[in-house]
Amino acid sequence: MVGSRGCPYNCTFCGAAVSANPDLTIRVRDPENIIGELDALHAEHGVTAFRFVDDLFLGVGRVIEEQMAAFTRHRIGERYVWDATGRINVLDRVTDAELDRLVKNGLREVALGIESGSDRILKAMDKRINAEMAERVARRLVRHGIGVKGYFILGFPGESRDDLKATVRHIRNLWDIADTYPGDIRASVFEFRPYPGTPVWTTLTAAGHDPDALLAYGDVDLTEDGADEAMRQRDEFNFSVGIQFGGVPLPEIRSTLATLTREQHQRNQGTKEDAA
Ligand code: SF4
Repeated sequence: MVGSRGCPYNCTFCGAAVSANPDLTIRVRDPENIIGELDALHAEHGVTAFRFVDDLFLGVGRVIEEQMAAFTRHRIGERYVWDATGRINVLDRVTDAELDRLVKNGLREVALGIESGSDRILKAMDKRINAEMAERVARRLVRHGIGVKGYFILGFPGESRDDLKATVRHIRNLWDIADTYPGDIRASVFEFRPYPGTPVWTTLTAAGHDPDALLAYGDVDLTEDGADEAMRQRDEFNFSVGIQFGGVPLPEIRSTLATLTREQHQRNQGTKEDAA
C-alpha cells in the first residue's frame, strides 16, 4: 500500500530527500480512500495483512492523528494487521496513549531509519535524530508490542572505526532491549552507496569523485564470512561501487555487515519469530 508520496526531510543519502525532488509536492491520501483500498483488497483477494511502503507513512503527527482516528472509526484493528515506515523524531513525540491506539488499529511493525550509533555521523546524514532518541523510541515501541525494523548504513563518508563500533554496539544494545519486551527489533544493515541527486552525491562530486565511478555498481559476495543463508536472502542488496568513503577499509565494513546480518539471522531462528 502507498498512503503518501514524498518526504519533507533531507537525509543526505536518500533519493526521497526533499532537496533531491524539487519538482515533487508531498501528497497524502485521504484516510477514507486508504481504508476503501484495504477493504477492496480484502473483499477481492482475502488480504488481511498490509504493508505501507511510503517513503514515510508515520511521518507527520497531524497526519497520523487523522489516519488513526479513521482507522479506529472503521475498526481496522479488529480485521487487519499492517506494517509501516515511520520516523524516530516524530514517534518520539507520540504519547503512550497514541502508541496504544496504533496497536489497537493493527500496527505490527515500524520500519525506522536508525542508520548509525554515532551522533557525529547522524549529524552528517542530517537525520535530525541522535542515538539516544533512537534507543528511547525503539524501547517504547517494543514495550507496546510494536516490532521495529531498523535500517543501518555502514561506511558513510567520514565514518571512523569508532563510529562503526558505535553502530555495532547500538544494534546489539537494541537487540538486548527487545529481549526484555514483547516487540522485536530486526536490524537490516547496508553498505553505503551514493545515489545521484542526493545531497551527499553533490558533496562527493564537488570533492572530486567521478560520477561514473560512483555509479559503477558491482556485486559483492559476502558469503565467505560464513553468513551464507542470511546473505542469500538479501542477495539483491549486495552491490557496491567499491569505493572506501569513510576511514574504515571496505573489507572491514563488509565483514562487520556480514557478522551483524548473521547475528540477525540467528535471532530470526529464535523463539520470538516462532511465536509470531
Ligand atoms: S531517509 Fe526517510 S526521512 Fe530521510 S529523506 Fe529519506 S524517506 Fe525521508
